[in-house]
Amino acid sequence: MDLAERLNDPALFKTQSYVGGAWIGGDTSFAVDNPANRQKLAEVADVGEAGAKAAVAAASDGFKVWRKTSPFERSRILLKWLDLIQDNTDDLATLITAEMGKPWREAKGEIAYGAAFIEWSAHEAARVHGETLPVPAPGARGWTIRQPVGVVSCITPWNFPAAMITRKAAPALAAGCSLVIKPAPETPLTALTLAELADRAGFPRGVFNLICGDASKLGPIMTGSPEVRMIGFTGSTEVGKLLMRQAADGIKRVALELGGNAPFIVMDDADLDAAAAGVVQAKFRSGGQTCVSPNRIIVQDDVADDFVERLQARISEVKAGDGFAPDSDIGPLIHDEAVERVDALVKQAVSGGARVVVGGQPLADELGGSFYAPTLIEGSGFDSEIARSEIFGPVASVYRAGDEKHILDLANDTPYGLAAYLYTRDIGRVHRMSEGLDYGMIGVNAPMVGSASTPFGGMKESGIGREGGKWGVEEFTELKYVLLSGVNS
Ligand code: ADP
Repeated sequence: MDLAERLNDPALFKTQSYVGGAWIGGDTSFAVDNPANRQKLAEVADVGEAGAKAAVAAASDGFKVWRKTSPFERSRILLKWLDLIQDNTDDLATLITAEMGKPWREAKGEIAYGAAFIEWSAHEAARVHGETLPVPAPGARGWTIRQPVGVVSCITPWNFPAAMITRKAAPALAAGCSLVIKPAPETPLTALTLAELADRAGFPRGVFNLICGDASKLGPIMTGSPEVRMIGFTGSTEVGKLLMRQAADGIKRVALELGGNAPFIVMDDADLDAAAAGVVQAKFRSGGQTCVSPNRIIVQDDVADDFVERLQARISEVKAGDGFAPDSDIGPLIHDEAVERVDALVKQAVSGGARVVVGGQPLADELGGSFYAPTLIEGSGFDSEIARSEIFGPVASVYRAGDEKHILDLANDTPYGLAAYLYTRDIGRVHRMSEGLDYGMIGVNAPMVGSASTPFGGMKESGIGREGGKWGVEEFTELKYVLLSGVNS
């Protein structure tokens, strides 16, 4: 497949923003690069404040139509979008690999994962319903209805260029909300193709809007405009806090999926091979650039040597390379600054007494892009920088700890609370520890927790709200109560 040729095909790939059913440009533009080789892929229009305002106005008009559309019709259009995405999986995956770097087969997996949220939400559209309630006054009737929140602004990150959009857009659309979406500047091409496919699916004009440009200009309009009633965001805790502050002024609803510091706990009764395989699967997906990536691998003292040895064998086999090469297990990091940040964390850990077991250096010279070696270190302290901050790179860091209580205290000693992993075969430990971990999602002997039917989200500074399952759609609804007095004879 010739990427340059495909990127020049105006039928699918766009570099303008999609507003009110039309493609709009801007006065300026920004470049999108391939992190595997630093070549420029495209120049994308920045729609600026005027474009953001136009998108909010279009979404406001779109909402008036969409909220009245039958849920069955909403479902049909969502399923059409799903079909189109599935039909174009290879091209979408190619864009993800080109602009974000993850291996092509993993990018295809992301399309399937993201598409599942559209399928689930399409069916859920027809299941949004209220209840009748007992009320005190004789003869009176009370009931609840669930209505769409309104215009929703969605701001998404680059690590899952497709799925972070579908995971928000699909339930919001199912609920009857209209959208203004802003993808990350690193990965607008996948997002714009999703918009092209939404256009073909036939959402009414203004229901689906997607704008690209400078976040500091677009953001305040997306959060501050009175027509916008909710902000859905996935990204850093720092930006999440900023958006929450901006939303506070208009008492807007927020759904925030923020950073994590996932503990991956290996107890002494665990299947150590399964646990080592689980670390590799969860850690190196997207090159370690996921918010649910194991950040602190906490192993009980008595099995730690054995476990490190098994993990070393597996991580030594993980191959970094261009995402289009079939034998690459991980691609590049998103840009050179990410490589520098990860390298600094590793160097700091080593100077604090940690030992590099595998890897531990950038691979830019050998591979020509923003690559970092798949790495295993051990021996950092729980108060070290690498233990306290989100690594967001292909570095597995192992810690040793004593008993169950000690491990739980250490695991919870962080402002974050997104995902945690627990490997044990003791059912008592499963209950005690899964209940004791202050995390929104716990994978017990399971390295991949997310799916379209289950609630994804965190506690503490990892966020507010849940995506997926019935909860994902519910987030985008208002609960209204109606009381009708005196209908008895
Ligand atoms: P990362 O550090 O992983 O890039 P960010 O939280 O910075 O994560 O980015 C996630 C998304 O938030 C991106 O779409 C980015 O453009 C957007 N963003 C960053 N800063 C702002 C801001 N001030 N207002 C609105 N959106 C922002």
